[in-house]
Amino acid sequence: MEVFHYTDVEAKDAEEGASKLTVRWLITKKMGAENFAMRLFEMIAGGYSPFHSHPWEHEVFILEGEGLAISEEGQKKFRAGDVIFIPQNSKHQLKNDGEKTVRFLCLVPYTNDERPGQHLELRQKKNSANV
Ligand SMILES: [Zn+2]
Repeated sequence: MEVFHYTDVEAKDAEEGASKLTVRWLITKKMGAENFAMRLFEMIAGGYSPFHSHPWEHEVFILEGEGLAISEEGQKKFRAGDVIFIPQNSKHQLKNDGEKTVRFLCLVPYTNDERPGQHLELRQKKNSANV
């Protein structure tokens, strides 16, 4: 078992197409979590994630702040305490339209062929190449 503070994990810029958004991969395959990952995102005022879709779902819990959850069916307001379920292959985007930083957990499975964790590994390789 491991117990650690989320700030012990480095915040990295989120993927391309995002703005003012960082991610901390709190629990990962590297640590021995074979089935799913826990990530904490921080989105400052005006920030957003890309409007995208992929073959894995998101399970989101809003810890702080407020904003908009956008899908092809429209947009819904969210605030601290809200839960957002984004099914696989459905287009989605989160936006911070408030004044405070939005903090949320986003859990993703490692069960699909195109795995979320691969993005992290690619990004780490890219980062180390830049050093
Ligand atoms: Zn997504």
